[in-house]
Amino acid sequence: MSKTADIVIIGGGVMGCATAYYLAKEGLKALVIEKSDIGGEASGSNGGGVRQSARNLKEMPLAMESIRMYESLHEELGMDVEYVQQGNLRLCTNDEELDVMSKSVENQKATGLHLEMLDRSQVLEINPYVGDKIIGASFCPTDGHVNPFLVTYGFYKKAQELGARFYTNEAVTEIRLQKGRVTAVITDKQVIETDLVMNAAGIAGRRISNMVGLDLPMKPVFSEALITEQFPPLFPQMIGHAKGLFYGRQTGHGSFFWGGFVGTEDYLYQKEQAGHSGKPLFHFIGPSIANSIIDFFPVLKNMNVIRMWSGLIAGMSDSIPVLGLTSEVPGFIFCTGFSGHGFGIGPVVGKLMSELILDCNPSIPIHDFCYGRFHKGADHECSCKKNAACTINSAICPNKRQWLKHI
Ligand SMILES: Cc1cc2nc3c(=O)[nH]c(=O)nc-3n(C[C@H](O)[C@H](O)[C@H](O)COP(=O)(O)OP(=O)(O)OC[C@H]3O[C@@H](n4cnc5c(N)ncnc54)[C@H](O)[C@@H]3O)c2cc1C
Repeated sequence: MSKTADIVIIGGGVMGCATAYYLAKEGLKALVIEKSDIGGEASGSNGGGVRQSARNLKEMPLAMESIRMYESLHEELGMDVEYVQQGNLRLCTNDEELDVMSKSVENQKATGLHLEMLDRSQVLEINPYVGDKIIGASFCPTDGHVNPFLVTYGFYKKAQELGARFYTNEAVTEIRLQKGRVTAVITDKQVIETDLVMNAAGIAGRRISNMVGLDLPMKPVFSEALITEQFPPLFPQMIGHAKGLFYGRQTGHGSFFWGGFVGTEDYLYQKEQAGHSGKPLFHFIGPSIANSIIDFFPVLKNMNVIRMWSGLIAGMSDSIPVLGLTSEVPGFIFCTGFSGHGFGIGPVVGKLMSELILDCNPSIPIHDFCYGRFHKGADHECSCKKNAACTINSAICPNKRQWLKHI
């Protein structure tokens, strides 16, 4: 006999686990299916940067709310998640980069975000370890960083305690539709009957969408990262680069995390000029990051790198995620395509998806993230309001299933 679930969430990364948690908190026990381990992909390999600055402005309301949530996440999850809110410095080494950052700062100030441009002497007051090449930076004091493993694990544990089910080492291989609606999820182990499925499969989000006949303009973007041996505490800010060449931070236990592709620009440029994207040279990029970081932070010149890894980013053509329902496939919910900066908005996305699933009414509008944006003429409504006027999604509205809070 096949199992049943009120909702199946595909993917046990931060998005799947956070959504399962906020649903469980309201009484709805999701079934999360994860093909490897909890946090086994991007949510376990990322830099832990939690930022509002240098974001796509459409994501800003989510990023601001997420910062508010991170401030008390340790209480919500009942565990320390190593959240450090000491700002984000985005470093500039020449006038062109200063110009890029100054424009970005002006745009972001207009959304109400508090951030500013600093000259070299002001940067040194905040971080005395920057190298001679730094001539300025943007600084957003309310940004910060967190331990991504602990956040993902915390959501998972709490969701499980509240009754959510997690099947790990089990892959979704098919989604069954009848008359165009979701009726079951099939894994490499079993069939699960459900009429609601959320695609939180990260880089596999496109493949999962293809299972129901939908497609996404999503491409995997390679990203390499490394961790050093431990240092005494040096600086608490999240560090970035004006053009996003690298990013990093000192972790709670003293190691430095660095990621990006700094030092490989010439190589990537030559490949582009030669007309082929070029497979990244993994053995080349890690050492390039390490060498370049020493220029930015000479104090780290004798650092030993103890581990390197590669991660894949679910890169959307417009660099913002796909969230919500689509009238094309009733019962299918998008929550994927976070394009390299999703971890920072993980908590708020989990909350909004739970609100969508329970009430059809996310507390922050998500229409900028609709699947319909890729299809001219398609509807751009990916949530629906809980009222009689809501017809567009009435056929798929989970609220019509009369889930009540605290059932
Ligand atoms: C190197 C690197 C550094 C990054 N740094 C930052 C940063 O500093 N700040 C920031 O905000 N963001 C950062 N990001 C991006 C961030 O990690 C992601 O946006 C975020 O973790 C996405 O979470 P997710 O739950 O959508 O995806 P994931 O964490 O990838 O979870 C998706 C899960 O779905 C599972 N899955 C896939 N297919 C199936 C299937 N068929 N059946 C069952 N399960 C399946 C996968 O195994 C995976 O565990 C970084 C990413 C990388 C790779």
